Order: sequence, then structure tokens, then C-alpha cells
Amino acid sequence: MSSDVAQSPLSVLNTVFGYPAFRGNQQAVIEQVIGGGHALVLMPTGAGKSLCYQIPALVQAQAGRGITIVVSPLIALMHDQVGALHELGVSAEFLNSSQTPAQASAIERRLFNGDIALLYAAPERINQIRFLGTLDVLYNRGALALFAIDEAHCVSQWGHDFRPEYRALTVLHERFPNTPRIALTATADALTRADIVERLQLHRAAQFVSSFDRPNIHYQLTEKVDARKQLLSFIRTQHAQDSGIVYCTSRKTVEEVAAMLRDHGISALPYHAGLDTAVRQQHQDAFLKNDTPTVMVATIAFGMGIDKPDVRFVAHIDLPKNIEGYYQETGRAGRDGEPANAWLCYGLQDVVNQRRMIDDSPADDSYKTVMRGKLDALLGLAETVECRRGRLLAYFDDQTVATHPAQPYRCNNCDNCLNPPRTWNAATPAKQLMSCIYRLQQASPGMGFAAGHTIDVLRGKTSPSIERFRHTAVSTYGIGAATSEQAWRSVLRQLITLGMVIVDTASFSALQVTDLGRDFLRAQSELRLREASERSSLKTAQTKSAQPSRSTARKATQTASTLDTQGDRILHNLKTWRAAVAKDHNLPAYVIFHDATLAAIANLAPHTLDDLSAISGMGARKLAAYGADVLRVVDSQRD
Ligand code: ADP
Ligand code: ZN
Repeated sequence: MSSDVAQSPLSVLNTVFGYPAFRGNQQAVIEQVIGGGHALVLMPTGAGKSLCYQIPALVQAQAGRGITIVVSPLIALMHDQVGALHELGVSAEFLNSSQTPAQASAIERRLFNGDIALLYAAPERINQIRFLGTLDVLYNRGALALFAIDEAHCVSQWGHDFRPEYRALTVLHERFPNTPRIALTATADALTRADIVERLQLHRAAQFVSSFDRPNIHYQLTEKVDARKQLLSFIRTQHAQDSGIVYCTSRKTVEEVAAMLRDHGISALPYHAGLDTAVRQQHQDAFLKNDTPTVMVATIAFGMGIDKPDVRFVAHIDLPKNIEGYYQETGRAGRDGEPANAWLCYGLQDVVNQRRMIDDSPADDSYKTVMRGKLDALLGLAETVECRRGRLLAYFDDQTVATHPAQPYRCNNCDNCLNPPRTWNAATPAKQLMSCIYRLQQASPGMGFAAGHTIDVLRGKTSPSIERFRHTAVSTYGIGAATSEQAWRSVLRQLITLGMVIVDTASFSALQVTDLGRDFLRAQSELRLREASERSSLKTAQTKSAQPSRSTARKATQTASTLDTQGDRILHNLKTWRAAVAKDHNLPAYVIFHDATLAAIANLAPHTLDDLSAISGMGARKLAAYGADVLRVVDSQRD
């Protein structure tokens, strides 16, 4: 970098990125690392973590203090990330296995010359002898300004996305102790956070914990009746013209659901680790780069680092593993601050499946205990009658929900707040169900019976196994005939969530009553449970999710919906122009300009470059590269 006078962080924000002001903790974080300190940064998705290391990188490089190394697990996205920086006129590169040795050597030479401000590298790379040698040279020259560890939760086995390669990052503090480290993540509960601090030796780091709230995301968790039908109805009624992500657990479900959606005229693509790398990349590109909305049906292999701003919904048709995973995945919706939906449907079988995955895993007992606790917390979220957001934020120790116990937190943008679920005293059916579990065990000593069989007995049904075990003779046979199967399943799920019943996955998913359940059977007469939503869950909320009502809701500078006809025309033409530029540069359209920036241009219909430069997202480089073209498009559509 040429200039020897360092720019201030704010002027870099204004001129390079074209944004008027810092958000939240950004400025404090930036000052901390420029001052030579370490930092641990927890910010929700879309809050702007990247600027927290990109701006220090630019300031330090300009001041001649060397390069910033960004550790990122996202090889498939490095090209786009670096491309986005090039669009801003920043000298950034990446080193990964997709390059030829000649390309890598060329980058190394430029590193030694000091003309790269940011270098993205995968964690595996950091431990390669050759690369370590390069870092040694830079370090000894005082030209290693900063290490930024993105997606830092990957270092922890308690996080939802453990990557063993991240463990090797201990080399950073061992070998380069004087270089500041900044670790960033969008989800980390207390345990994961402690692990990050330990593994990356950040004991003396300043911790910047932002509120995790995503006020523009509407949460809806609904009972599973027929997941695929429910999903189709959700997409059709609420997101017919939108991009979104549908998460499923298995590859097979991914394929089937993508095909089902396509059969119904929705442009959906599958994504999972079993697909060819080339196919995966092609589908990811279609999702990111197409100007037509696409639904990505995927396993959790998809999504980390996906910074598409206009994902309007994230749907789960299987239960995620834990709240961290759920929050991370749903967090991919609505990065642009506009309303978005997080929709999940789950049933008893999901609970059993997840429990079995934990029980059957080869991990040790203490690990399994932690994982069971995390699953229980997720079930608690699914079954709660209180505000979902309140539950989520409390899970992350977020202080924004620390209200008076007498006045529970309400967000007014989740299903429970907008449509409070009814509760009922389910003490009698709860006791009937638990007694039935007992009676079946008495009738068939040494045996245990799963949910389906138990509910059939309660409802007085017959089946080959009921006949074979002569369970028509137990005293609880048919005592719950008036209650629907779905209502029984709802009661059972809640008893499992409350810890009164467990599913013994080692023994054909047999139900067992716990000590807590036994205590209840003996003494209690009141048990408030959530009412099963019966058929209502099939017709999911018909209304578009309510606008976030709280003042913290971030607003896009200008939404397309408020434009007049001239504005509409300009916007349409700007998008066509942008699509051509993006295609030409082989980058996603939003890397050229965000929708919000185009909408602001369409609204203002600027006449001069000076007017144009005032728009958020219009940095100096983009103004120089595209300003004249943009003005031409605007002029051609003026009334
Ligand atoms: P994260 O990595 O935290 O999910 P990003 O760093 O991708 O989020 O930022 C999300 C979006 O917000 C990006 O498009 C980024 O350019 C934008 N952004 C970040 N900081 C600011 C700011 N101070 N003003 C305006 N936009 C910002
Ligand atoms: Zn709420």
C-alpha cells in the first residue's frame, strides 16, 4: 500500500465501503485491534463482522504495519469474498487448494513485497510448513499485522460445527505471540465461548458481545402433520416469489423435497455433501448469482458464510440438533434487515431420532450428557407457550430479555406473541399416559413399548402387536379413545420435554416413566400444557409476518415497495444492468450493489456523481467504476 499516512477507521468506512457510520460495537472492536489488543467478537449474522477485521487490515496496511491473515473455513466462498473486496478496490487474495503452484507462488511473492492487505486462508493452510515459513519471514519483519479467525465456533466441539482443523490454530499464539488475534462468531453459548478463549488463548482479549437479537426475523415453530404438504403451503402462501433455504437432515429427504417442490413449479435445487463438488458449486452459484428467486433444499452442509442478503425464509422440516445450530441456520434469513421468516415443523419422531443419534454416537458419556441437555433446550423452545425470541435470547444469556419476572418478555414478532397458544390442564391425560406405560410393562415383563403402540392402546385400537401381547386386556386400554392421536402425541412430547418420560433408544424406543414422572403421578393435579394445534398447523399463518415493531428493527435505506412508477422503472433497469456486470465479473449480483443501494438510487434519481456518492453502499471505487453507467441508466428512465 502506497500512502504512509494512515486513514482513520471512519474515513475508510466512508470512502472505501461508502457507509456513513459504524454500527453497534464495530468501532470499539476496530480500535481494540488497531491498538494491538486481542478481541473476541460475538455478533449476530448480518451485523457486520467482516468490517471488524477488514478495516483494521486496511488501516494497518496503509500505515506500513503489514498484512492481515483471515482464517476462514469457506474455501468455496473465498473467491466471492475476495472478489467483493476487489470491487471495493482493496488488495486482497486467497490461498487455497484450488490454485496451481504457480498461482500460489505469485501470491507469495506479492506477500513479501507487502502489496496485499488481506489474505484469506483455510485453517489447513496455516499449518503447512511452507506457509508457516512465509509467515515467519513476515513476522520477523514486523509485517504481520493481525490474525482474524472467522467462524471461530468451529474450534469448539461444543459448537454446532466443529472442524478439527481449527484445533491446529494454537500455532498462532505459540509461534506469533505478538500479533493480535481477533476471533469472530455469530453463535456461541457460554461453553463454546469458554472453549474459544481457551483454544485460541484469548484470556486477555477484550470481549465484545452484541445482542443476538434479529428483530426482523419472525419465528414460527409448528407441529408436524405432513411436513412436505405443510412446507409447500408455507412457501406458496408466504414466499411464492422469494429465495429461501429448506433444511432437512438426510440427503435422501433433500433430494425428495427438492423434486417435490419442483413438481409444484417452485424453482428448487438440492445441496448436500453427497453431490459432486461441481454440482454443489453450480447449485450454490445459482442460488447466489441468479436474479430469479431460488429455494435451496439442503443439509447443514450448506450455508456457512453464505452472505446473500435477501434470503426471505429459512425452513426446517426436521429438528436441528440444538439451539445454536437452529439460530445459526435461521440467521441466514433477512441479512438485509427486511422482514423474513424462520419456520420449523417438528414431531415426536424427530425427538426420538435426535435422541437416538446422540445415544448411538461413539462419543464419551460426558459429551453425550451435554448434547442431551442441548437437545432438551431445543425441545423446550419448541414446546414453550412463551415468546420464542425471549427463549432464544435467554439461551445466549442476552441481556435484552432480562425483564421483570412478573412481566415476561414479548417480542410481538413470533407465533406465540402474535397468536398466543391456548393451554389446558392436562393432568388427567398425562397420568393416563404414564399409567399406561406402567401397565404395559406389567403386562409384558421385561418389555418396553414405543409411542405408537402406547397411544394405540390408550385409544382402544387393535394392531397385530396389540393382539399378540394381549394388550386389549390392560386396564388402560381404550381410556383415551375420545382424544385424537395428534393430541396424545402432543401430550407425550411435552412430557418428554418436561423430563417425566424418556425414550429408551437402546430398546426399540420404548417409553419409560422417570422419577419425576412417578412423583407427578402420585401427587399433582395440575399440569398446564400447550394445546395441540390439530389441523391449524396445516394451514400455517396466512398473513405475511408482521413487521418488527420494536425500535431496534433495522430499516433498509429504501424499500422497493415505496417507489413511484419512474422509480420502479429505474430499479428494474438498474437490476438488469447489475445482472450483466455481475455475470461479466463472475460474482453474485449483491457484490456489485445491494438491492437497498439500487432502491435508494432509484428513489433519488441522482443527476450527478456527487449526488450518487451520498448513497449508502457507494464507495469511492464503485463510484469511479460504475457511477457514469448508473447515471446513464437513471437518465434513460427519467420522466
Ligand atoms: P456478518 O459477517 O456479521 O454476518 P457482514 O459482515 O457480512 O455480516 O455484513 C452484513 C452486511 O452489512 C454487509 O453487506 C455489510 O456490507 C453491511 N454492513 C456492515 N457494516 C455496516 C455499516 N456500518 N453500515 C452499513 N452497512 C454495513
Ligand atoms: Zn415473541
